[in-house]
Amino acid sequence: MSATLTANVVPFIDLPAQFRSLQPEIDRELASIFASAAFIVGPAVGQFEEAFARYVNAKHCVTVSNGTAALHLALLALGIGPGDEVITSANTFIATAEAISFTGATPRLVDVDPVTYNMDPAKIEQAITSKTKAIIPVHLYGQPVNMDAISQIARKHNLKLVEDACQAHGAKYKGSRVGSMSDVGCFSFYPGKNLGAAGDGGAVVTNDAGIAEKIRLLRDHGSHKKYEHQIIGHNFRLDTVQAAVLKVKLPHLDSWNAARRQHAEYYSRHLSKVPTIVTPSVATDCESVFHLYIVQVSNREKMQQALRDANIQNGIHYPIPIHLQPAYRELGYKTGDFPVTERLAGRILSLPMYAELTEAQQDRVIDVLTKNASA
Ligand SMILES: *Cc1c(COP(=O)(O)O)cnc(C)c1O
Repeated sequence: MSATLTANVVPFIDLPAQFRSLQPEIDRELASIFASAAFIVGPAVGQFEEAFARYVNAKHCVTVSNGTAALHLALLALGIGPGDEVITSANTFIATAEAISFTGATPRLVDVDPVTYNMDPAKIEQAITSKTKAIIPVHLYGQPVNMDAISQIARKHNLKLVEDACQAHGAKYKGSRVGSMSDVGCFSFYPGKNLGAAGDGGAVVTNDAGIAEKIRLLRDHGSHKKYEHQIIGHNFRLDTVQAAVLKVKLPHLDSWNAARRQHAEYYSRHLSKVPTIVTPSVATDCESVFHLYIVQVSNREKMQQALRDANIQNGIHYPIPIHLQPAYRELGYKTGDFPVTERLAGRILSLPMYAELTEAQQDRVIDVLTKNASA
């Protein structure tokens, strides 16, 4: 490997590269917002909501301040509250569980499938109690969950279904976009997500006009008309600036996701030759959008050191499962409760992944992993 190459960092994600390709359009949008000073629920908010609803193929989209707020308001709109239980995946970002807790309900966790890393439908029913009101499957890392199996369980037990699609903008399950196959689909536009704002952002999508209406009220002080308040709400609106950035980016999402899939194939083609590295599997009937490209390795500390030495950024998503987080001690779970999630937490490694990633950069990553793999 040449000295000039190793001197260059392979970033985990390269947002400036994405921005450079869109700068003239974003500059124009921002100039017009600043000229009109329509910073709060300006025209771009409604325009983006319409475009995103069409993209996901849902009847309604309501933008909110972030993905955690999207999940929180979705649950509130479905009537979830104190005394209720909501089932979600043990392998997820903490926000999914937090949103449940914010309503006053209790998260009940379910272990994941060792192949897809998503909630294992076969383990859901044993977590259902008389208090269970909803299930939140998480399309983790960009990979759709088994929606048919989970929807069937939800129907059988009369439970609401909320998709956490915060890592899976554009992913498809049997041809349908994730977020469109449940009572409410929730998205985050955190800058590093597949569709990211220039700050925090989020949205819910739904086919139910009543739920959309309720979330519109909840995100804006329970109000449709200034200083008239139907219910007690929050201030969870999306800024006009964020909506404008998202509006410019949305038309590029499919091509960015296609590039991610291509990079994932390239990684997997080379890394699957190494016996001690486990590459990701995409479930049948699913189109993943590879928010993260994750491998399992048996010598993670050594791998991470070798990647760092080669100036290659990497991450772990996530090192501590929800049930072992200090914040959730009160749930009473212990080590051993979710063995698949726990095993993954000790072995997973997230490699650089973004649309602009080059083959030369990927070759550097593959080279380091191949040379340092345990025998
Ligand atoms: C990012 C994320 C969220 C929360 O989104 P924020 O916009 O950061 O609040 C929720 N769930 C999952 C799975 C996420 O990855």
